[in-house]
Amino acid sequence: MSATDDHESMREQALATVREAFTAAGADHHVMGLDPGAEQSEPLAIGEFRSFAESIWSAERRVEYLMISEVHRLPAHVQNWFADSAAAARWFTVPNWFDGNDLIGPRLVAYIDVKAEGLRRLVALHEIAHLLVDSETVRCGHGSRWIEAYRSLMRKYLPPGVQAIWDRTFAETSNEVAERVAADPLWLAHLL
Ligand SMILES: [Zn+2]
Repeated sequence: MSATDDHESMREQALATVREAFTAAGADHHVMGLDPGAEQSEPLAIGEFRSFAESIWSAERRVEYLMISEVHRLPAHVQNWFADSAAAARWFTVPNWFDGNDLIGPRLVAYIDVKAEGLRRLVALHEIAHLLVDSETVRCGHGSRWIEAYRSLMRKYLPPGVQAIWDRTFAETSNEVAERVAADPLWLAHLL
């Protein structure tokens, strides 16, 4: 493969990643806008968001420590990483974890960082789905593995019907994105 082909395939990959993220975010926004007072969309206090996320985490039998932080409390340079996403999730090995008494060496920790507008049950499940399919070194983005994990969480932990509404909205958003790309092949590139 030539350097140009390599560059081209990296660009294709970047565009596919942006397209998946854009479609997922579009479906989430639409679902939360349909019924803003409903269980999945209702604004939560940070404490409520944290206990909801922790209850799902243990129901999924995860034993790793789940750390939930509000983005506005993070250092300013870290806040810039979030750009326009309402929340983000990642795995990270803390080199020397303090368990409250002692430093106990390396510990793999699951992190969710959330902005005020992301304090909703649907967003908690979106981020937990990332943690369920990602590892510290491999991130699946918003591809098929993440979609399956997210749909399964919606089915288990939100009122009946929410997942079906999300599915329909996701399909509609995918079609809209396909139409925009067909009309303007460079449209996605503007989002890079
Ligand atoms: Zn996401």
